[in-house]
Amino acid sequence: MAFRTLRALDCARKRVFVRVDFNVPLSKEGTVADDSRIVASLPTLRYLIEKGARLVVASHLGRPKGKRDPKQGLRPVRERLERCLRKPVAFSETIVGPEAERQAAALGDGDVLLLENLRFDPREEANDPGFSRELAALAEQYVNDAFGAAHRAHASTVGITSHLTDCAAGFLLERELHALGRLLQSPERPFVTILGGSKISGKIDVLRNLLPRVDRLAVGGAMMFTFYRAKGLETGRSLVEEDKVDLARELLARPEASGKLLLPEDCRVAADTSGRDPGRVVPADKIPPGLVGVDLGTASLEQVRGALEEARTVFWNGPMGIFEVPAYAEGTLETAKAVAQATGRGAFTVVGGGDSLSAIHQAGLENQISHLSTGGGASLEFLEGRTLPGVAALEATAEAAS
Ligand code: ADP
Ligand code: MG
Repeated sequence: MAFRTLRALDCARKRVFVRVDFNVPLSKEGTVADDSRIVASLPTLRYLIEKGARLVVASHLGRPKGKRDPKQGLRPVRERLERCLRKPVAFSETIVGPEAERQAAALGDGDVLLLENLRFDPREEANDPGFSRELAALAEQYVNDAFGAAHRAHASTVGITSHLTDCAAGFLLERELHALGRLLQSPERPFVTILGGSKISGKIDVLRNLLPRVDRLAVGGAMMFTFYRAKGLETGRSLVEEDKVDLARELLARPEASGKLLLPEDCRVAADTSGRDPGRVVPADKIPPGLVGVDLGTASLEQVRGALEEARTVFWNGPMGIFEVPAYAEGTLETAKAVAQATGRGAFTVVGGGDSLSAIHQAGLENQISHLSTGGGASLEFLEGRTLPGVAALEATAEAAS
């Protein structure tokens, strides 16, 4: 990778602007509902603290659209961060300007200052040069550890690197790029991908880019019904993206799809998605008109297990059914187990996507997957083969320095 990593940064006694991804869900009471993203940034933060750097930490949270919104402030994050780091964290209401600069200047070695939600200022998402300069004025060095925001060209991910050229990638960013990079660059074969979830639309380009690279691409979740429809099958009241049927047909017709693209042979159908009706398993070509497809069937679970049996590299994104409803969670939880078993056999396994990760946690398998990708949109864009602007910006500073 063509960027500098954290260990190469001479950060002792320096003020370091650390862009993290603290875009955590908040509860109704306004506390942090899930701190996994905070926890994921701790290795970088602890390393910098240990090295005696002075940390100016910044993140976005939610979509406040450039306005102050007390419900999306970072104060609850500060509290959780203090507990995680077991040390006080200073907080600046203002993101940039004299007050923030005063607080940044007051930092001692190993001290931490958290700035308020970057997206309270419309100039963040506009990648505004003036705002980038003001952010840069808070520090002497820049570390980007916000993999989840690396696909956005914003002031704190791109613009700031024009002013703070002493830059590095944090451990989380480095780890994500390394793991996802292994999927695209000479993966050990067979390479098996399992794609599910609610919609094809967000994942078409991933499908397109991965299909020529994988040995097997198994489809599940609601996505399967758009493929069934493309094959002219009855799909009942299952979720079908009508405007993506042609695209599904095109993918099925591709020469590289034959023998690779695996559609479920059967599925579980129910009267509705409430869970009141546990439903029953029917063959893919016998979905009754009035029913909804809610999960994989027994035969398709065997297909997934079979595909994973020999796999040396595995990527899974998107639940296989409506796993939030216990009666329809089997396909997803069994897929999670099969992926974990592949890890046990020595395969390199990556799971990405918010709902897929929550299924992994639900199954208690988080320690049996090689890499859990926290990136969401960033992971998908990377797997589409796109350059992530935040990463490109780090590479550009590395190039300029060499
Ligand atoms: P991820 O967050 O892992 O990327 P997605 O957001 O793409 O996954 O999809 C997750 C959603 O897909 C879940 O809410 C799940 O209920 C839904 N889903 C899966 N299978 C079906 C189905 N057969 N019908 C409707 N929704 C489904
Ligand atoms: Mg999701």
